[in-house]
Order: sequence, then structure tokens, then C-alpha cells
Amino acid sequence: MLARLARNGAALRNALLDFIFPPRCAVCRRTGPWLCATCAARFENILPPLCQRCGRPLASPHCPYCAKLPIGIDGTRAVAFFDGALRDAIHAFKYSHRLELADHFGTMLHTYLLTFPLPVDTIIAVPLHTERENTRGYNQSALLANALSARHHLPVHPDALTRTRATRSQTELDAVGRRENVRDAFVASPQVRGARILLLDDVCTTGATMDACGAALYAHGAQSVWGLAVAR
Ligand SMILES: [Zn+2]
Ligand SMILES: [Zn+2]
Repeated sequence: MLARLARNGAALRNALLDFIFPPRCAVCRRTGPWLCATCAARFENILPPLCQRCGRPLASPHCPYCAKLPIGIDGTRAVAFFDGALRDAIHAFKYSHRLELADHFGTMLHTYLLTFPLPVDTIIAVPLHTERENTRGYNQSALLANALSARHHLPVHPDALTRTRATRSQTELDAVGRRENVRDAFVASPQVRGARILLLDDVCTTGATMDACGAALYAHGAQSVWGLAVAR
């Protein structure tokens, strides 16, 4: 209820602002679409060769990250580097209610999966803790899941995964600290049994959050879990 009010409030505020201040690119602020073609063209895709497990770009067959702290899920992938124009666009999407950007990100995710298919049949968004979702008014990953689902014809399971406790921001933590911070923070529902899951998030850094989600999903019998993020 609170989340919906906040969301409607934000939508109303945006509509009013659009009227007073016409739409501008979330990155360069030029009037026009919410993301102009020039800024979108500056997104830098992450292309093979990659580590087959963690998805980091890799020149050698041995991944130093996976050797040190391997992920527990089947694999993670990200569409583009979390840098420059894409970093600005994701910040606008996440912190400034620029929900319209979900369309562009949905298309990016869809195109990525057409080019580099993953063996999945269900989308699950990385959940926020209820408190944070109420404050923000939306879960950006759930918006991405819906945008991808509309394009890629994979169903979304909106209630399959819950964040059971608030976790502190991961940004200041190292890889081991991030794992500790999100350990056991998620719980899955039994409906995931046998599913081949695509776990969706806006940004993936070390993969710690996706790993913790994966642990909860495997615990309830998920067959496989692949993580996909817009950016890394
Ligand atoms: Zn622009
Ligand atoms: Zn790796």
C-alpha cells in the first residue's frame, strides 16, 4: 500500500515535471528521449572472451577471481561496463525515479540473451528489503524483470524470493565482506523447485548478492541459477 502510494506519488510528480520541464536525457540532460541515442551509444558492452563462470572479461583461461573466491551459482553475466554514461543512467533509474529507463535496459537484456543465450526458463528479480522498497517506491530489478519478460517471453516469478533482513550497502566492502554481509539474507519459496532460473539485477560487482540469492534458490530445489545484470 505504502509502496503503491509512493509509486503513484512519484509517477504523478514525474508527469507534472514532464509538463513543466519536458523530458531530457537522464545522462546528458538534452531535451528529447529519456535516454538519447548519443549517450546510449556510449555504453560499452562486455564481450567475449569471458570467464565462463563469473563472466568477467578474461584474456587467459584461468580466472584469478574464481580461483580466489568462486561463485556458487551456475554463472553470472552482465551486458555492459558500469562506467560513464551507463553508470549515470543506472543512477537516474535507481535513485531519481527515472523508471522510463527500464524500457531501454529491457531491450539491452533481451538483445544480450538473443546473442548469448542462457539455459533458463523463469525470471526472478533480486529483491530489496521491504523497508528499502517502500522508501524508494519500487524495486528497480523487478522493473527490469518485467521489461525483459515483455520482450523475451519468459515468465517472472515475483514472489519466489524475499530479502528477510536489511543489509548494509555493499559499496564500501571487499569481496569477502560482501559475501558475509548478504549471507542468509534471502529466502526462496518452494515454487522454484526444478526451475532453471535467470536471476536479474541492475548491477553486479563481485556476484555476492546473486550468490546469496542462489543459495536460497538451490536450497528449495532450483535446478540451475544464472545471474544477469545490466552492468558490471
Ligand atoms: Zn544523452
Ligand atoms: Zn571467473
